[in-house]
Amino acid sequence: MIKITNIYDNIKCNNKFIPDWGFGCIIEHLNARIVFDTGANPEILEKNLKSAQIDPSSIDIIVISHKHWDHKGGALWLVKQNPNIKIYMPKTWRNGLEKSLAFYTKDINSITKHLPINDVFHLVTSKTLFVTELVLAIKTSNGIIIVTGCSHSGIHKITQNVHIAMQEKIYALFGGFHLFRSSTKNIHKISDSLRKMQVKIVAPCHCTGDKALEILKKEFAENFLINGVGAEYVFET
Ligand SMILES: [Zn+2]
Ligand SMILES: [Zn+2]
Repeated sequence: MIKITNIYDNIKCNNKFIPDWGFGCIIEHLNARIVFDTGANPEILEKNLKSAQIDPSSIDIIVISHKHWDHKGGALWLVKQNPNIKIYMPKTWRNGLEKSLAFYTKDINSITKHLPINDVFHLVTSKTLFVTELVLAIKTSNGIIIVTGCSHSGIHKITQNVHIAMQEKIYALFGGFHLFRSSTKNIHKISDSLRKMQVKIVAPCHCTGDKALEILKKEFAENFLINGVGAEYVFET
């Protein structure tokens, strides 16, 4: 069983949680407890973790998808809760966060290419001219679940990259699709290409945008999962 709980998002799904611009989720599996992105504000992250009944010192791994403030803001606070925590982030870092984190943990891994963390979890990189982004690829019996932060390089391109890197079909997409500036025509095109790649489930949130949420909801029907802070979904391993 793999449980994914959204712990930081500007979209609200549960009144016990505080919404705020940004993204963060926690992935729980026999193998590991992973935080993927840490939102913008450590105090809000702390409160939302409490609402999810997750002890921050029990987290084994942090993945920071990319350098933007709304994904890395809670990282330093989280690392202070557990000195044995392992961190994965893209290598293109120039803003000092890596140095600050190094005061609290020695286990910082800067990633430049596809990296298996273990049998179940892999990290795959996607690049634009300005941003290198990591996505988490989770192997399940139904195919790969992709957890993504902002999808700056395009959710369809990320899906394709992961498919090529893992040589397996993509089952589900969870996270920010970055379509809030896209035209209706473009959103339909991207939705079509996801369906052509046989993506079964979508759980878009954060920077996806209202128009894209509406279109994807229609296109994926019962396989569209409502996502936002406080949402939790369980997937088969
Ligand atoms: Zn971003
Ligand atoms: Zn973002």
